[in-house]
Amino acid sequence: MNNHRADFPMLRQNVNGKPLIYFDNAATTQKPQVVIDAVCNFYRDYYATTHRSLYEFGEQATVAYENARKKVAAFLNAEPEEIVFTQGTTHGINFVAASWAASAIQKGDNIVITQLEHHSNMIPWQQLAQKNNAELRYIPVMADGILDLSTLSKIITDATKLVSVVHVSNALGTHNDVAAIIAAARAVGARVLIDAAQSAPHQKIDVKKMDCDFLAFSGHKVLGPTGIGILYIKKELHDQVPPYQFGGGMVYEADYFNASWQKPPQKFEAGTPPIAQAIGLGAAIDYMQKNVPLDELGRHEAQLCAQLIDGLAEHKKIRIYGPVEQLKKNGHLVSFTVDGMHAHDVAVHLSNYGIAVRAGNHCAQPLAKKMGVSSWVRASFHVYNTQEEVEKFLEAITLLRVN
Ligand code: PMP
Repeated sequence: MNNHRADFPMLRQNVNGKPLIYFDNAATTQKPQVVIDAVCNFYRDYYATTHRSLYEFGEQATVAYENARKKVAAFLNAEPEEIVFTQGTTHGINFVAASWAASAIQKGDNIVITQLEHHSNMIPWQQLAQKNNAELRYIPVMADGILDLSTLSKIITDATKLVSVVHVSNALGTHNDVAAIIAAARAVGARVLIDAAQSAPHQKIDVKKMDCDFLAFSGHKVLGPTGIGILYIKKELHDQVPPYQFGGGMVYEADYFNASWQKPPQKFEAGTPPIAQAIGLGAAIDYMQKNVPLDELGRHEAQLCAQLIDGLAEHKKIRIYGPVEQLKKNGHLVSFTVDGMHAHDVAVHLSNYGIAVRAGNHCAQPLAKKMGVSSWVRASFHVYNTQEEVEKFLEAITLLRVN
């Protein structure tokens, strides 16, 4: 993999006198100059709102915004009208919970998720199940971080209306066998939502091949801006999904008592959209497609995972969580604990060496409890990370005197 560091201005910084080693990519990624430029150029050169302005810049802004939608559609092998701009993964999942699911899921129905979920794909379903008297069911996770799919036929039943699953776990890095889960959902006529927050930034996703109904990811984890995300809604569901929010931009016709909606995606995008953010996301996707073939990226990150795992395994007091052998083949993150030391102290120690990692329960408290930890340290990679950085990370870990 080429060294792409020079494209990312943030990575020129020193932290505590050391070059920044940014290993918190599962939380959010750094931005290449082309993304920063795309956002700045919009604000500086053709700033206007979209869809309703008939003047020159309004037209330019609309074209740029809709081009971004086309780029995302191609990225996922979807149709442009199937791509709804949201604020992020959390917003996309809450969208589905509050719109389609709120009316489609009723008393006696069940919703199936997994024990690996981020809070974003758990709490909205807890809330909905409580409100609509539905049952929330979990596909269990085993001690190695892999889902126990032998239980699928018992958990997914005729009463299942939705199966909502994380594609790749942000806490343990597990790649879930979503094909098997989707097949089980299809067999009972349940709808499927995929939380692709940790997969879209690292592997090719083809929504047609995957055959999901909804899929959500966040722009800020794919080298794009914050405040933008994607909710894919399969075309055949468009009539069954009510608008999530109501207001300007989504109305076809209104009188004082009633209104009708524009066709999707406008039906699903009330209010002034995140125009600059969408344009930035389009630039990020262009950058990825031009510079970062996803299969090469996956191999590069897995190599870094393998190097990190082998290095950490030399320390008796370090425990690595998750499916270690799988992470060496296709992972992009490694979570671990250090006996006798709080994860926050490890993160502060690493920060002294210019290294940024995540320490905490990774917004997956029930999973952390199940794994018997209060917090993990997580190192996670993207295109600009290098073997030299992993070596420096391992040197800094040795200085913790953990053996
Ligand atoms: N799901 C997963 C698996 C995630 O990793 C994250 C972000 N940590 C989210 C959902 C939520 O993403 P956002 O905060 O961008 O909405």
